[in-house]
Amino acid sequence: MELNVEEMQLQTFIKMPKIELHALNGSLSHRTLQKLIDLKKTKSGISTECDLKIPCLTSNDLSECFKVFDLIHKITDSLEAIYVAACDVIEDFYKDGVHYLELRTTPKISSPFFSQEMYIETVIKAIEDTCSQKCKGMIVKLLLSIDRKRTSRYAEETLKIAEFYFSMSSCVVGIDLSGNPMSGDIGCFLPYLDHAKKIGLKLAVHVSEVPNNFKEVEQLLKLQPDRLGHGTYLHPQKGGSLKNFELLKELKIPLEICLTSNVISKTVPSYEEHHFKLFNEINHPCVLCTDDKGIFNTTLSKEYCLASNHYSLTKEDMFNLSYNSINYIFSDDSKDELRSLWKEYIKE
Ligand SMILES: [Zn+2]
Repeated sequence: MELNVEEMQLQTFIKMPKIELHALNGSLSHRTLQKLIDLKKTKSGISTECDLKIPCLTSNDLSECFKVFDLIHKITDSLEAIYVAACDVIEDFYKDGVHYLELRTTPKISSPFFSQEMYIETVIKAIEDTCSQKCKGMIVKLLLSIDRKRTSRYAEETLKIAEFYFSMSSCVVGIDLSGNPMSGDIGCFLPYLDHAKKIGLKLAVHVSEVPNNFKEVEQLLKLQPDRLGHGTYLHPQKGGSLKNFELLKELKIPLEICLTSNVISKTVPSYEEHHFKLFNEINHPCVLCTDDKGIFNTTLSKEYCLASNHYSLTKEDMFNLSYNSINYIFSDDSKDELRSLWKEYIKE
């Protein structure tokens, strides 16, 4: 069978070693969703539960995408399902050529069957098992997400859990601030994020996902997080304030870029108008990521294809983009090992 140009390009990027730093709960593939639906049906003894159907993942329709989040919520309600989901997501990334992965997850709060600690321990077990068996050599770390939609009490609780596992295992490396960017005042979360930094946890925050929230952006930048998620409206050409932009450039905080996610969820009108283009032109550090690869029907290799095609980047540019991502990972101990792996690849 002959491959067309696009497929050949995709194969090249699958083989190229990559880093994924912004992978959320919506990373479950079609295959995993089906597996978890079957598991749920077997467990609950229901042969045909009509609302457990996979929405059309090939669609660019956002309402279909959000149905997947609902479905994921319903089918990851047991520790067994959470274990399977985490193992599968890691394996998907491994098959896509990802050597270092940072997963992020919000500890579940509403389950009557397990505690937040049991949830985190299950995810850590899935990571350890998968990296020692099916995905040998892969490094996977975990960030705990603080959902800004929830109260500061939950933030405090999440931080406590993160702090505990940070001291216990090398798996938990940081904290993420995410959730509906329109919700609430982030002021109450700042002391927790600041504390996280002080005790050595790394910090990734979703920032500037909606226009005109200059004060919030400034508050978040002043925390000096280690990485920023999206940053859609940070650039002055996208309506960002000059003051915040100058601060961002001065601090050189890397941006986690999720092309497909932004275009499908319509926070960015098209790939041509994506802020990655502007930041890449000024050599601001950027890392290509997937966000929710299952929901948005993408892979990290596809994101690399998109970037190389839409912004006319050469093979060398793409390799450097991937290689430089190593600088921004949260596990400092893993950097040397990864750099030699990338150098090995380029020699071949
Ligand atoms: Zn995100």
